[in-house]
Amino acid sequence: MLEAALRYLENKPACPHCKDQLTLCHAPPMHVGDGLGWGSEYLFICLNNECTLYVNGWDFVDVQYGHVGSYRHMEIPGSKETYNMMVAGQSAYTGSIVDVEALKKQNARYQAEKVATAALDTCLEENNLEPVLALLTDNAAAPEGRKRAAALLVPLNDINCIESLRNQEYGNNHIEQDINMAITKILAAHFLRECPFCAELIKSRAKVCKHCRTELK
Ligand SMILES: [Zn+2]
Ligand SMILES: [Zn+2]
Repeated sequence: MLEAALRYLENKPACPHCKDQLTLCHAPPMHVGDGLGWGSEYLFICLNNECTLYVNGWDFVDVQYGHVGSYRHMEIPGSKETYNMMVAGQSAYTGSIVDVEALKKQNARYQAEKVATAALDTCLEENNLEPVLALLTDNAAAPEGRKRAAALLVPLNDINCIESLRNQEYGNNHIEQDINMAITKILAAHFLRECPFCAELIKSRAKVCKHCRTELK
């Protein structure tokens, strides 16, 4: 849905009545006329107040239906469907204009999540920590994928995961517990621990931290 809208946006769709570029809007929850859904989360609408369809629509609606209203040109992204959509006033749909930059970012994040999730299947044999870290440091990623990623930390046994993982706020207790447990195991497997004073990695049996020089028990 989102991808179709963004792809359509690349074509810079224009209004056939005024040639102005159409604006991407969130679809209202219901079809205004007959109560059916639009079948799309997004609509492209001509919001140009000088658009001939819109300017001439007031008289047309008045004569035809005897009430106040006009039309806006509308297209559904990814389909060939276009509509003259009745509006009651100038501000209709202006409150549902999509923040395109935010939407592109959201889409890029989602695409990266898909790639990382697919890469989990082969990351062990490739010794590739990257997709695991990508999912664990992306709090918007799906919990199932992140749980799978967390379960791969110990088998990957890569000490380089610790810095990124320790610098992340998870906002999810299950994931955080899984990660903390994995870090404990990875440290033990490398005969390392984190200095309780400066958090740098040191040998398990060190008596003095080589980084902060604190005496350790
Ligand atoms: Zn127009
Ligand atoms: Zn230290």
